[in-house]
Amino acid sequence: MKYISTRGQAPELTFEEAMLTGLARDGGLYLPAEIPVMSHDEIAALAGLPYEEIAFRVMWPYVSGSFAEVEFKQIIARAYEGFGHDARAPLKQLNENHFLLELFHGPTLAFKDFAMQLIGQLFQVALKRRGDRVTIVGATSGDTGSAAIEAFRGLDAVDVFILFPHGRVSEVQRRQMTTPADSNVHALAVDGDFDDCQAALKDMFNDFDFRDGVKLAGVNSINFARVLAQIVYYFSAAVSLGAPHRKVSFTVPTGNFGDIFAGYLAKRMGLPIDRLVVATNQNDILHRCLSGEGYFKGDTIPSISPSMDIQVSSNFERALYYAYGEDGGAVAQLMDELKTGGFNVSQGAMEALRESFDSGRVSEDETLETIKETLANSAELVCPHSAVGIKVGEDHRAADVPMITLATAHPAKFPAAVEKASGEHPPLPSRMADLYERPERVTRIANDLGTLEDHIRRHIAE
Ligand SMILES: *Cc1c(COP(=O)(O)O)cnc(C)c1O
Repeated sequence: MKYISTRGQAPELTFEEAMLTGLARDGGLYLPAEIPVMSHDEIAALAGLPYEEIAFRVMWPYVSGSFAEVEFKQIIARAYEGFGHDARAPLKQLNENHFLLELFHGPTLAFKDFAMQLIGQLFQVALKRRGDRVTIVGATSGDTGSAAIEAFRGLDAVDVFILFPHGRVSEVQRRQMTTPADSNVHALAVDGDFDDCQAALKDMFNDFDFRDGVKLAGVNSINFARVLAQIVYYFSAAVSLGAPHRKVSFTVPTGNFGDIFAGYLAKRMGLPIDRLVVATNQNDILHRCLSGEGYFKGDTIPSISPSMDIQVSSNFERALYYAYGEDGGAVAQLMDELKTGGFNVSQGAMEALRESFDSGRVSEDETLETIKETLANSAELVCPHSAVGIKVGEDHRAADVPMITLATAHPAKFPAAVEKASGEHPPLPSRMADLYERPERVTRIANDLGTLEDHIRRHIAE
């Protein structure tokens, strides 16, 4: 499989090259040159298989050529062995035809583990084969950093440095980043806010001496390998509810559009998905856009579902690429307009988007109310992100098509909001109950590019 850029000006790459590169040289995002299609019979045959086997069959057409079959099976096995649930992504029933897909049984209790754990193993195998090593630097407001640390800890081809804003992540999130003892893990508490961390990261990528010197690599949500890993659970959930013999719909709490875009690819691969519903909190650029108001930046307003507090949704570019008939020039033009505030979506592209996507927005009060009601009506304690999804999913549920809402984090990751809404304190799963006793290891560091680069240079393994 070859990979092409959404802006049409970058060279075609293999899967391995696209994964190690992340962002295309023309500023675009990589996509497969063709979307592989699975037949009705191939999808039917997935029913009842272990998650790892479904993962292999769904992802294989995307990676063949970069990995051997046995090698890729081993990578998948290692990626998901640390999950706390044998089903990996179990389904819970909320009411007669609304289901919750629990994606929070990985090591850091959020859905990002599905992609990060896989990408960690993929990087390790690819780099070993090349006799190479890289330095991964990430900036996080919480979930991505801990997921990256858990994925790369102990892997000898990689050093991982995570920048987080000192004093501005939750205690669970901080401890998940500071308690791993592996020598290749480096948690950096930056004196600044999340935007400062992101700006520092961007500056490092633009400092070519530094970038080449430490072999800087990124694993943020635009990396196609992350999108790929997320396609799998759309298949596992849909077949367990009767696909391909009947249709299902999905509602996805959305920030950067990575998770729901994986659902779009699943649909294009042949999975009978009726509707893909985007659920946003008060940071609603995607809901406004899908309602026909254009794609215009606003101010980010902090919410109780912080992993969805975004101004610009980076993976939406991939959906636009298909909505604009795979016209890279048109996408490049839109992204240019975005720099100065935003753009209107053409009528044809709006029609294409509406063929697959619906959307809804949920206020802070509605989020709290949904946590409370879900506990009362279905005996499930859910995190605020999942609650945003449940509210929108319920509003968009049709009588004859099961609705599957993605539960993106464990309630114990956001205990304050959950307790405020429900009166119940969500306990950590027993396998991490000692999180508060484990020793922390963290470097507090100034928000200064030179200081940060110097620290990283001095702490990477030889
Ligand atoms: C990252 C995240 C999201 C948003 O996912 P996107 O792929 O960015 O749309 C939603 N919920 C939680 C808990 C997350 O960590």
